Amino acid sequence: MQVRFWGTRGSIATPGGATLRYGGNTSCVEVTSDSGVTILIDAGTGASALGRTLMAQGRGQRGHILISHTHWDHIQGLPFFAPLFVPGNDWHIYGPRGLGQSLRDVLSAQMDYAYFPVALNAFAADVEFHEVVEGAFYLDDVRVETHYLNHPALTVGYRIEADGATLVYASDHEPHSHDAAEGRAEGAEAGDIAHVDFMRDADLVIHDAQYTAAEYPAKIGWGHSTIEYAVDAAKAANVKTLALYHHDPERDDAAVDRLIEAARARAGDDLVVTGAAEGATVELRGAANTSKLAPFVPSSLVKPTSSVKEELILIAGLPEADRDLLSAAAMADGIPSISEMSPEALKVALARGHPSLIILGDALADPVGLCAQLRSIEGEAAQETPVIIVTDEARVPTDKGESAGVTDWLTRPYSLQYARSRLRAWIMRSMLRWRKAALPADEEQRLAAVHRLKLLDTDTEERFDRHARIAAAALDAPIALVSLVDSERQWYKAHYGFEFSETSRDVGFCSHAILESAPFVVNDALQDERFADNPVVIGEPHVRFYAGVPLHAADGARVGALCVVDMKPRRLSQAQLKMLQDLALLVEEELEPRAAARAG
Ligand SMILES: [Zn+2]
Ligand SMILES: [Zn+2]
Repeated sequence: MQVRFWGTRGSIATPGGATLRYGGNTSCVEVTSDSGVTILIDAGTGASALGRTLMAQGRGQRGHILISHTHWDHIQGLPFFAPLFVPGNDWHIYGPRGLGQSLRDVLSAQMDYAYFPVALNAFAADVEFHEVVEGAFYLDDVRVETHYLNHPALTVGYRIEADGATLVYASDHEPHSHDAAEGRAEGAEAGDIAHVDFMRDADLVIHDAQYTAAEYPAKIGWGHSTIEYAVDAAKAANVKTLALYHHDPERDDAAVDRLIEAARARAGDDLVVTGAAEGATVELRGAANTSKLAPFVPSSLVKPTSSVKEELILIAGLPEADRDLLSAAAMADGIPSISEMSPEALKVALARGHPSLIILGDALADPVGLCAQLRSIEGEAAQETPVIIVTDEARVPTDKGESAGVTDWLTRPYSLQYARSRLRAWIMRSMLRWRKAALPADEEQRLAAVHRLKLLDTDTEERFDRHARIAAAALDAPIALVSLVDSERQWYKAHYGFEFSETSRDVGFCSHAILESAPFVVNDALQDERFADNPVVIGEPHVRFYAGVPLHAADGARVGALCVVDMKPRRLSQAQLKMLQDLALLVEEELEPRAAARAG
């Protein structure tokens, strides 16, 4: 794929002689895959010239615009992007799903009568808006993965994989830990670690690098990275090339040169550092046509079935100033219910119900200890409800509360805008809630059996494929799988009608199927509260029906399942179910072929 910078500046367009080399236009990057898919990442003022160029080259008919967030420096070029005004053109705009206002409404506000002569509904092209949450989706043969960034507006980063290469766009983003922002990587928090994972092994990362560590203390809470952090995170993620991006408007070309110099010195030999420069083009080439199948990631293009009005935030021990700020932040996004409780009442509430979020403050003697107590309560809610602790950075324990099950930290000082975007991200994650399968009682022994089979990550084999094929044909199902349930994933030894190698255990149905020896059947996932909000049900591949028979290893451990999946609700007859069970017995014989049979 080809990557071209059309706007590299943060905050405000900065034209003039002093910014000629790195450019004065705000955020806009063009990505073109070998197959001709056109993608814009952000539509700052740089989008205007890009639009004219696409028209001149006759490439403006169709494309995709990925918006990281709706701050002006990322959308101001949209009303000037010419391809949107040509009848018959087909454009798709993606951006983070808000809780209240739609992406379309937010974007049309900047084209309101008072600010702009043409209204958004005057786009003559067919323009479709798509709201994304964390997950993945495809634009033809280009895979796009989304991840929330840390910024005082809900912001997503984009990971784009095409032609065997990977590009990550991560702007605007402030490290979760102030330590990490100032270049002390050992201070990284859960959010920082997830950010590194998101960038893992990328060929090119375009990363916010607005400040230096020395400038950072005066810019805490502004939502941006330092060059030190960008370098440290890229190195930790084994990135090949880092392009410093979102240049501060107060920096001229010479000042950006000095930053790049400093970043290179910090990066050493393993990481190439460049400065994103308007007009520069980068060719990304990966190992072409790797035949390895990708793991399945749930779709970003899903909408929670519940409304934000049903969400409930429980708080305990928040000092008054924090409580006021967080309440205002929740109200601003239409979350009506924020309930203050004593620690004891909180325990009772968690044992009885499933709140969306728990926020603990440092007016409690030991918020981390309380978190550990909450996690030890029986039931799914106690395990899964995100627990956030609000405190001063100096009071975050060295293990970041990991052992106590703390989900995240909100460290002071933080603004209302910050609190709002963090709340949104937490609630968004929490709203897409479905029931994960419990761990089997013999999990350790079971995993040992799975590994003993020595089948994980091996190539497909006809002796398994044929059973998946027969199951699909016999039960007239579009998908049939032979799965092995590993510690974190369902891996597929055979996958008829499904082109992925594995699915996370969290969203998988086979993880439920291995809990009992009887067949596990879900007639209509949308009507089943365990699965109704599962991203594979409300998003691609839109599973409605599942029937799985557990597969046993020789020692009796349930290692996986033979299953059929359909996209419409169904019921199997007793005879059909029996057939699936018989096939599962045949698959079991292949799992551990008897020595005699092998010799024969
Ligand atoms: Zn920005
Ligand atoms: Zn911003």
